[in-house]
Amino acid sequence: MAVPLSPEQRASLDGFFLPQVLDTRLLVLAETRVENPAFYPLLRQMGFTNLPNFTTMAAVTFGDVVVSHQPFSDGLLFHELVHVEQYRRLNRRGMAAVTVAAVIPDIDGIGIVAEVLTRHSSHPLLWFSEYHHALHSLAFAVVVAILTFTLTRSWLTAGLAFIAFHLHLLEDLVGSRGPDGFIWPVPYLQPFTSQLTWSWGGQWQLNAWPNLALTLFLLAITIWIAVVRGVSPVFLFSVKADAVVVEALRRRLGYRVGRLPGA
Ligand SMILES: [Zn+2]
Repeated sequence: MAVPLSPEQRASLDGFFLPQVLDTRLLVLAETRVENPAFYPLLRQMGFTNLPNFTTMAAVTFGDVVVSHQPFSDGLLFHELVHVEQYRRLNRRGMAAVTVAAVIPDIDGIGIVAEVLTRHSSHPLLWFSEYHHALHSLAFAVVVAILTFTLTRSWLTAGLAFIAFHLHLLEDLVGSRGPDGFIWPVPYLQPFTSQLTWSWGGQWQLNAWPNLALTLFLLAITIWIAVVRGVSPVFLFSVKADAVVVEALRRRLGYRVGRLPGA
């Protein structure tokens, strides 16, 4: 089983890595070795000859677990933890893209600025009234997914952005009724056709209790992930600030690293 760093290993690497990186778990293989990926034969057929050989490497890093073929020296451990940090930073762009995809449909509401500013003029602009929710559509979701792929080169991340976008549409559908009782529709196939515009008579108001309950529930999950997995939404903006937030939450909640059941 993978085990946390020993207190001695932690102490000697403290200061070089963030506490979250020191949460990496280690697995030393005695009898078996890490196998090469199943797609290697295919790559060789395609002409790739200099593929890295996992079976002869000293150690391989998979996300937050380092698997080694030999006992960890300080040097080997240091080298592998650098990879853990690299993966964390690589992930950051993808996480940011998915987060943006979840809120970006609402940029069609930006017309409210023009509408409010020109409200009392002789030619009021009705950009908010006419275009709000115009981008809550499949076409824009596809654009966002393609942009995400261009930025991250990852189909998985692009797919997650597509799903996050649709989660936004679903949330608007069930719980975005205005204070005046207006039920927001989702014009899913705009600008091509008004057919398949979604709306739901049971749509609750923006400030209704289900939205409040959901907010508290998701906030609790966010804090749980920050404490146990060592990453908070602050990570999207600053790696260092995120470390401070995670540490503060852990201290406040009395969480000790390495005490996880099953870790
Ligand atoms: Zn929306």
